[in-house]
Amino acid sequence: MLKNRSTWSHSTPHRKESCTLQNEPRIAQTTEPYDLVITGADLVATMDATRNEVRGGWVAVRDGRVAAIGTAGTEPDATDRLRADGCLITPGLINTHHHIYQNLTRSFAPALNGDLFDWLRTLYPVWSRLDEEASYVSAWIGLAELALGGCTTTTDHLYVHPRGGGDLISAEITAATELGMRFHPTRGSMSLSEKDGGLPPNSVVQDDDEILADSERLVLRHHDASDGAMVRIALAPCSPFSVTPALMRRTAELAERLDVRLHTHIAEASNEDEYCLATLGKRPLEHFEDVGWGSDRSWVAHCIFPNEAEVGRLARWGTGVAHCPSSNQLIGGGLAPVREMRDAGVHVGLGCDGSASTDCASMWIEARGALLLARLRGGPASMRAREVLEMATLGGAACLGRTDIGHLSVGAMADLVCWPLEGILFAGALSDPVEAWLRCGPNAARHTVVHGRPVVRDGSLVSTRVDEMLGRHRTIASDWLAAATR
Ligand code: ZN
Repeated sequence: MLKNRSTWSHSTPHRKESCTLQNEPRIAQTTEPYDLVITGADLVATMDATRNEVRGGWVAVRDGRVAAIGTAGTEPDATDRLRADGCLITPGLINTHHHIYQNLTRSFAPALNGDLFDWLRTLYPVWSRLDEEASYVSAWIGLAELALGGCTTTTDHLYVHPRGGGDLISAEITAATELGMRFHPTRGSMSLSEKDGGLPPNSVVQDDDEILADSERLVLRHHDASDGAMVRIALAPCSPFSVTPALMRRTAELAERLDVRLHTHIAEASNEDEYCLATLGKRPLEHFEDVGWGSDRSWVAHCIFPNEAEVGRLARWGTGVAHCPSSNQLIGGGLAPVREMRDAGVHVGLGCDGSASTDCASMWIEARGALLLARLRGGPASMRAREVLEMATLGGAACLGRTDIGHLSVGAMADLVCWPLEGILFAGALSDPVEAWLRCGPNAARHTVVHGRPVVRDGSLVSTRVDEMLGRHRTIASDWLAAATR
């Protein structure tokens, strides 16, 4: 149904993420109005298999899926309409790494100037106050923030499970369901406390059996393996310095049995190499392979310090990487070898990382950060906006093991964003809407649509509960701050 393809140059010199739909669903042929049509866009960047870009485009939705795409003058009837005049339409951005609960300790003054290990040691005791109310409220605010920034699918890595804290991940899923966001929470875990040579205090670690039993419970309760799923669970021991090798190995076995994905931090800090060599006798990614994680079931956060051979191994395994530009800058982590990873064939997605290390959760900012860092590291020809858009959509989908999101093809899920390219910030940026989207700005969504339903409409959340939730969030954050500075 694509018509009048534009003449934008959108080839990328490097490998492309695939977006082939598996078992492509049939769209019912009917004369009934569509559920939703988004009209009047300057350009629809579909990110489909041929990277079609449609000038003056519209997108029609039925049953939560993209049902048709066309050009001006051929707009169909629909029950609901969104105007996208002056906008670029892209697939919804996919956030592949986050710790949403940390928005309760954003820009936390006592922890601002240490390295990663100091920062964590300061904040672990504060986070040990996490309970179901805090998990629900922080997830609601964090997911709302992501939606406003053009994110439609996000993961969350919740690895602090204090004793008596309750069912934190089910509380987050309630928030995602209420807001209408597509959600991939991961059951994080820490099992190696200070007394055993790890980093976290005893109050936030659990034993291996308890972690694995709760992981299985959450998968059985919430994981939806079907095409178009709104909730999927992955298993996510935190990092080499907070879990035992035995837990890593048993978690990989459990993920295989339950057929769910695996996630962890790896090669995140320069002193992680020293820690792993001293305590495990091997480099972080050697450890990763030895405990059974080198596979296409896994995606890892940061991956700043793989050597050349390890980049090749990540590609061979099919292991995805969540590149976190803002966090890597704020913690001073370093410049990840994104160019080398993509050239080698590694699936690279983008992630905000935790709201106490990145402090804001905007996938547009992460996309722009990915452009800037790649060019700082490799020069101006090393990265372009379309390649970043590919990482933020198809690359993220590949990290999460999905082919039904990350592109606007007929039959794919109707997850999309209308980005305004108008006004003072975009004046004069007339030659290429995709480059303008990332080089001008800052930008945020005019409309964010998830599963065919607007979550953000005309720049505001559709939900009417924002003030109530902000009040609840402030109460919890104030209590935590008071307790930490008492
Ligand atoms: Zn992280």
